[in-house]
Amino acid sequence: MTMSTIRRLLLVVDNPGDARLLREMVNERAASSVTELTHVETLAEAEKHLSEREVDVILLDLALPDAQGMGAVRRAKAAAPRVALVVLTGVDDELLAAQALQEGAQDYLIKSQIEARGLLRALRYAVERKIMEEALFVEKERAQVTLGCIGEAVVCTDIFGKITFLNVAAEQLTGWSLAESAGRPMVEIFRTRDSSGEDSAETTAAVAILRIGAMHLPSCCLLIRRDGVEIPIEESIAAIHNREGEAIGAVIVFRDVSAARATALQIVHSAQHDFLTGLPNRVLLNDRIDQAILMAKRNSAQIALLFMDLDGFKHINDSLGHPIGDELLQSVAKRVVNCVRGADTVSRQGGDEFIVLLSEIQNSEMAAVMATRILKAVATTHAVDKHDLYITASIGVSSYPGDGLNAETLIKNADTAMYQAKENGRQCFRFFKPAMNARAVERQSIEESLSQALQRHEFKLHYQPKVCLRTGAVVGAEALLRWTHPKRGMLSPAQFIPIAEDCGLILPIGRWVLREACKQARAWVDAGQRPITMAVNASAMEFGDDGFLGSLFTVLEETGLESTALEVELTESVLMKRVESSANILRTLRQRGVRVAVDDFGTGYSSLSYLRKLPIDALKVDQSFVRQISTGGDDVAIVTAVINMARSLKLRVIAEGVETRTEMEFLKAHHCDEAQGYYFSKPVPARQFAELLERGVGRMTARRGRSSASAIRHESGAPDVA
Ligand code: C2E
Ligand code: MG
Ligand code: MG
Repeated sequence: MTMSTIRRLLLVVDNPGDARLLREMVNERAASSVTELTHVETLAEAEKHLSEREVDVILLDLALPDAQGMGAVRRAKAAAPRVALVVLTGVDDELLAAQALQEGAQDYLIKSQIEARGLLRALRYAVERKIMEEALFVEKERAQVTLGCIGEAVVCTDIFGKITFLNVAAEQLTGWSLAESAGRPMVEIFRTRDSSGEDSAETTAAVAILRIGAMHLPSCCLLIRRDGVEIPIEESIAAIHNREGEAIGAVIVFRDVSAARATALQIVHSAQHDFLTGLPNRVLLNDRIDQAILMAKRNSAQIALLFMDLDGFKHINDSLGHPIGDELLQSVAKRVVNCVRGADTVSRQGGDEFIVLLSEIQNSEMAAVMATRILKAVATTHAVDKHDLYITASIGVSSYPGDGLNAETLIKNADTAMYQAKENGRQCFRFFKPAMNARAVERQSIEESLSQALQRHEFKLHYQPKVCLRTGAVVGAEALLRWTHPKRGMLSPAQFIPIAEDCGLILPIGRWVLREACKQARAWVDAGQRPITMAVNASAMEFGDDGFLGSLFTVLEETGLESTALEVELTESVLMKRVESSANILRTLRQRGVRVAVDDFGTGYSSLSYLRKLPIDALKVDQSFVRQISTGGDDVAIVTAVINMARSLKLRVIAEGVETRTEMEFLKAHHCDEAQGYYFSKPVPARQFAELLERGVGRMTARRGRSSASAIRHESGAPDVA
C-alpha cells in the first residue's frame, strides 16, 4: 500500500461537532484519496462495522459513551488488530496519548490542534507505520522460528560482551537458559578452550567485534559446558553493526562436532588397528618402527623386534573352531601386552603372528629377557570358553641397527629368526644371524627341487635292521627315506622332511614310501626270507590327513603284504596333537592288525596315563637316552624306568641308536626287547639288507669296543655270527 491508497476511514467520534469538522477536513483536501468515510458514535457500532467491512485506518475518540481511554484503545485493537489506529485526545491528555501508543496506536492527534493537512498526513503515516510494524513482526517471527529450529547454536552479545540472546540449541550446548544468561558476560556462558588449553572465547570475540569481521575459532576448540563437560565445537563469530557501521555486538554460531570427530577418529583407528585384538596393525607398526629408528639414531640406542608365531595354533582353530581360536588370540594378545613397557608396541600381523617393538633398549640382553618373559606368559594356560588351552610360541629377534636399518628388513630378519626357533624345537627364541638368510635361500631351493623329486625318481629307501636282543635275530626293518638331490647329492631326511611337511609334499612322498616299503617286504617274503616287521615313519601331516587310513589299507591290499607285517612309527607329539582322532585311527589300525610304535620316546611330553589308553604296540626309546648308557650320564635311570614302564604296560621296547656293545649289553640285561643302531648295521639298500637277513647281524656274543661309522660299514659285510 502506498500513501495515496488510504481509501476507507472509520471515524469513531461521539461529538457531532467534532465529527462534522473532521469530515469536512477530509473532504476538503483535493489530494485526499479517502473514498469511503464511515462515521459511528459508539465503540459498539465501530466493532460491528469492523466485523463487516475492511478499513484502512481508524480515527478513534478516547471519550465515547460506551468506552473511554485505554479501554477504547484495547477494544478497537482487539476488533481490528491489523488496522492502523490514530487516537483523538484532549489538550491535557498527553499522558493518555502516550499510553495509547504503547498499546498499539500508531499516532495521536489533539482535538483542538487538528488542521486538514496535518490530519491527512497523520493518517497516512499511521497506515504506513502499521504496515512496517507488521512486516517487522513477520521478519522477527521468521528469525525467531529459524533460530529456534536450526541445529546450529547461536549466541548474541552486545558491544560489552553481555549476552543478549541464546537459541534453543545454544541453551542445550552451553547448559544455560536464555533467561538465566541474558545480561551476563559472554565468557561466563560461552567458555571455550583451544588446544593449547587456554580460554579462547573472550579474546576472539573481542577481536571479532573490534575488527568488524567474521572469524573462525581454531578448529579444535572445546566448549566448556556449564557442568564442566567439554564438547568439541566448530564455530564462527561475526560482529553486528548499526546503520553507521559501528559494531554493537557479536553473533557466535557454533555446533557440536563430537560425533563427526568420533567418526573420524574411529575411521583412523580401524585403519591402523587389528579388529580382533584391538592391537596396532602392520600399518601402524611400520610407522612406530620408523619413529623408533629415528629416536634410536638420535640417542645412539638400539631397538628390537620380536616376531612371534604361535606353535600349532592351526590345530586349535581346526579342532575347536574359529570362535575359540579368536578368543585364544585375544587372550594371547593381552598376555603379551602385559609383558612389555608402555613405550613398546605389540602388534598383530594377522593370523597367529604378532610383532613386539621394543623401542630403545640398552643391549640385546633386554630383548632376550623380554622374549623369555613373553614365552612364559603365553605358555600359561588360557581359560577360553570352558577349555583350558595350552599353547606355546616361537620368537625370532632382530635388532636395529645390527640386523637392518629399516622396518622391512628388521621384520624380514625377525621372521627368519622365528623360523629358526621353530626348527629348533619351538617354544624358544632365536636371535637373527646373517647365516639364517643363507639357510632360508637354501630352504627355498630345496623346496623347489623337492616338488620334482618323485617324478625324477630321486628317492630311495634304506632299511635298518631291528634285532631281537634275546636271540640276536633280525626281526624287523625300519624304512628310512633317502634323497639323491641332482646337485647336492645325498640329503638326510632331517634336511628335507620338515620342508616337505611345510609345503604339503610329505603326503605324496609318504604314500610312495609306504608303497615302496610294503612292496619290498612282500618281495622278501616271496623270495623265501624269514618274515619280519616293516616299520614306516609317518609324520604329523600324514597322520592327520583324512586319507591316511584309506591309502594305507589300499597299499596293503595292492602289495599283498600281511597287515601284521607292517608297523607305523609315530612320534609322541604326533599322537598328542590330536588326542581324540589319534585314538580312533589307532583303534582302526589295531583292528586290521597293523602295529603302532611310538618313535623317539622320551623326547616329547606324553601323558603316560593317556598312552596307557591308546592301542600301542611298542615304544622306541630315543637314542639320546641310549647314549647315556655308555657315557654314564644321569639319564641311565630313565632308560631303565622306561623299559620297566613299557613292560608293565605290556609294550615292546625298542632301543634306537645303539652304537656300542656296552649299550647293547646294558639293554639286554635290562630286558629291552629289540635294538636298532649302527652297532648292528647302518640303514642299507634293499639288496644289502637281504644279505643281512640271510646271514644275520652277528654282534651279540663277541666282545667289541665302540664302533666307528666307517668300521660299521666295513664290518656290515662280515658280521660276527651269534
Ligand atoms: P627315526 O625314525 O627316529 O629314525 C632313526 C634315525 O636314526 C635315522 O636317521 C637313522 O639313520 C638314525 N640312526 C639309526 N641308528 C643310529 C645310530 O646308531 N646312531 C645314530 N647317530 N643314528 C642312528 P635318518 O635316516 O636320518 O632319519 C631321521 C628321521 O627322519 C627319522 O627318525 C624319521 O623321523 C624321519 N624319516 C626318515 N624316513 C622317513 C620317512 O620315510 N617318512 C617320514 N615321515 N619320516 C622319515
Ligand atoms: Mg622311526
Ligand atoms: Mg627315532
